[in-house]
Amino acid sequence: MSAAPTRASRPHSPGGRARLVVERLAPEYPGSARELCALAHESPLQLLAATILSAQTTDERVNAVTPQLFRRYPAAADLAAAAPADLEELIRSTGFFRAKAASLIGMAQAVVERYGGEVPPRMEDLVSLPGVGRKTANVVLSVAFDIPGFPVDTHVGRLSRRLGLTTEEDPAKVERDVCGLVPRRQWGALSLRLILHGRRVCAARRQRCEECVLADFCPSSTVPWRSPPARGAISAVGRAPTGRAVAKRR
Ligand code: SF4
Repeated sequence: MSAAPTRASRPHSPGGRARLVVERLAPEYPGSARELCALAHESPLQLLAATILSAQTTDERVNAVTPQLFRRYPAAADLAAAAPADLEELIRSTGFFRAKAASLIGMAQAVVERYGGEVPPRMEDLVSLPGVGRKTANVVLSVAFDIPGFPVDTHVGRLSRRLGLTTEEDPAKVERDVCGLVPRRQWGALSLRLILHGRRVCAARRQRCEECVLADFCPSSTVPWRSPPARGAISAVGRAPTGRAVAKRR
C-alpha cells in the first residue's frame, strides 16, 4: 500500500481518488467478486435467478428460498416449464412474487430458446432476457463468468457520488464514469466492496466518516483533516461466519 496522502497531496482528481478507493477498500473487504457475493449459487443460471429474486429484498431472504427453487427447477428448461402458481408460492417471501415469477419463467424460456439452455456470457445477450437489466447482467458477468462488470445499485451510486468519482444519478452513467477510472479487472470486486462499505460505514442516512478508511481524501467527509484510520477499524458486525465480508444488496 502506498503512503497515506498528506493534506497537501490529497488527490483532487476523480482518477486519483478512485485509485485510493480501490487500494484502501481491498484489504477491508478481501476476496474476489465471487467470494464477496452473498447470493448462494453454483452456476450462472442460479446466480441469474437469485439476482432477479434479490430486487427489493435482502440476500438472506433470497438464500432462504433458492435451495428449494434450484432443487425443483435444476435446469433452464425446468424453470421455463414451471407452473406460475407453483413458482409464485415458492418465492412468495421475497416480495413482488408474481412479477418475479414471470421474469424467471420468461428469462428461462429465452435462455432455452435462444441460447440452448445456457446463460450467455455477453452483456447485450443478458439484457435481452426478460427481467434482466444492466445491474443484474453486470452481477452475472463479474461474479459467475469473471468478466469485468460494474453493477451499480443504490449503495454504489451514493458512494461514487460522495467520493467524487461521478456527479451522475443515472446508474448507467455512474457505471460509465467509474469504469473509466478503474482498471477493468477491479470492476466487479470494487462494486461489491462499495456495497459493503455503504452498508457498514457510509449509509444513506448516517455516514460514519470518523470510522472511514477513506475519510482523509473523501470530498464528502464530515471530519476535519486527519490521517486515515488503521486497517481493521471498520466494525466486524455483519461478517460471515468465516470472517470474510460478503456484500448484500438491497
Ligand atoms: S468519508 Fe464519510 S462520506 Fe466519505 S466515504 Fe467515508 S463515510 Fe462516506
